[in-house]
Amino acid sequence: MKTQTAENFSLKTISGVECAWDRCEKRFTGEMPVGWANLLVWWSALPAPWRTIGEVASGSDCKRDAVLCPKHVAELETLLKDIGGALRKPLGSA
Ligand SMILES: [Zn+2]
Repeated sequence: MKTQTAENFSLKTISGVECAWDRCEKRFTGEMPVGWANLLVWWSALPAPWRTIGEVASGSDCKRDAVLCPKHVAELETLLKDIGGALRKPLGSA
C-alpha cells in the first residue's frame, strides 16, 4: 500500500478554493464563478441582523464558512425542506 509522505505531497501544488462537499475536488482560483455558492453556518440564540458576514464568519459560533460547486449547491437544495424562498420567515409573522 502506497502512503502519502511529506516528500511526495506539496501544498504548493494545491491552490484555489475547493468545494466543501465530501470527496468533491472541484475548485476555482480568483473570483468565484457564477453557480458556486457561499455556505455560512452559525449558531445564534437570537437573530442578529446588525452583525456583518465578516463578524459572523470570524466568530466562535461559526460552524462552517465554505463554498459549494454548482453540482453540490443543487444537491444541498434537494436535502433541505422548501421554505418558500431563500430566507426563512420568523414564526408568527404573516
Ligand atoms: Zn462540489
